[in-house]
Amino acid sequence: MTSTDTAEFRSDLRAWLDDNDLTPPPDSHSLEGHIRQFARVQRALYDAGWNRYGWPEHAGGLGGPAILRAVVGEEVVGRRLAEPGPYSMLEVLTPTMIDYAPAGLAAEMVPKLLSGEELWCQGFSEPGSGSDLASLTTRATLDTDSGGQRYVINGQKVWTSFAQFSQRCILLTRTGDAETPNHQAITAFFIDLDTPGITVRPLRTMHGVDEFCEVYFDDVVVDADRMLGKPGDGWQLAMDLLPYERSSCFWQRIAYLYSRFDELISIVKGLGTASDSDLGEVYLALHTLRCRSRATQHRLADGHRLGPDTSIDKVLLANAEQQFYDTVRDLLPSVIELEDSDWRTEYLYSRAATIYGGTAEVQRNIIARRLLDLGKE
Ligand SMILES: Cc1cc2nc3c(=O)[nH]c(=O)nc-3n(C[C@H](O)[C@H](O)[C@H](O)COP(=O)(O)OP(=O)(O)OC[C@H]3O[C@@H](n4cnc5c(N)ncnc54)[C@H](O)[C@@H]3O)c2cc1C
Repeated sequence: MTSTDTAEFRSDLRAWLDDNDLTPPPDSHSLEGHIRQFARVQRALYDAGWNRYGWPEHAGGLGGPAILRAVVGEEVVGRRLAEPGPYSMLEVLTPTMIDYAPAGLAAEMVPKLLSGEELWCQGFSEPGSGSDLASLTTRATLDTDSGGQRYVINGQKVWTSFAQFSQRCILLTRTGDAETPNHQAITAFFIDLDTPGITVRPLRTMHGVDEFCEVYFDDVVVDADRMLGKPGDGWQLAMDLLPYERSSCFWQRIAYLYSRFDELISIVKGLGTASDSDLGEVYLALHTLRCRSRATQHRLADGHRLGPDTSIDKVLLANAEQQFYDTVRDLLPSVIELEDSDWRTEYLYSRAATIYGGTAEVQRNIIARRLLDLGKE
């Protein structure tokens, strides 16, 4: 597809969004409301075909380059029809699920996700394993009585975003024994969250949007055909998935930040507290991030494999987001500190930008070692 076709796609989508009012209803302000609204938007986009472009036909998509997904995300989230958090899960989880799942499983499940019928979550982190993901201890044991047909899973995940609303989970488990090197001992499964033995407990967050959960697995039986890849492929799956979490899913988040930046400008103009230099610096940070992210979207669309270079996108996103909300705090006196507003919620959530998807320190280590070849410290 040429850039003209992409521009035509965007203009047709804009016309469709103008004609089909998907504005969130007034009662969609809670997390439950965000999830309901996201499902509503997905359903409408799916029925009209828009969000099936950029996904392969063998997984229920309508084909075309991945850049079309970015266009849909930008238009939908930039117009504030869906929140960037739930929306980003599509881009984080689905490409890798499609690459590793048995063909029939992807063909069955991806349409459920795209059409808003389901939500999926990512079960990677554990209480003792975040940055050091390879140390995870949730264990999947082959049930020898099943003739190799089933595994039994025991362990705990944490910080699992949207698990309380999800039907499925991409789960990393340990399958190797003590002798197996860590990176060959991890196996991924696609789990139904209503399987007996799974307990999901939402966690309170400081910003009041209780998005993530603890998830417990007690003798959870899963069929071997729910494995993503082969035994021991889980580490490679994680290495393939994390670049999406560190880059392509940011495109619509950036559109959201731009829309909030426009709002800030109009508020501070009214207050007469505008400081050109503060706003200029935020604009520079957002624009740098958007330029980088645009290049990443195009590399992905051109068929390049995303890798450690996406740590640059992650560092730029975290910096821009935190700088923006720090500026909000400085320019809107007492709004963050004293008012129960969206600005306050978003300011608090922006603190997590240097943690989720891999911490800022770990991203800088990756940049130093793997991109700049600086060796260990
Ligand atoms: C909003 C949010 C949503 C999340 N959603 C999910 C989700 O859906 N699914 C999921 O699986 N996980 C999720 N996470 C978890 C996230 O991936 C982890 O928090 C992250 O990987 C860091 O792990 P940790 O919290 O265990 O911190 P730790 O790894 O314990 O790190 C603690 C501190 O030590 C530093 N540190 C650790 N190792 C090194 C090192 N080698 N060099 C230098 N510094 C180091 C870190 O930078 C950090 O400052 C989410 C987190 C947040 C905040």
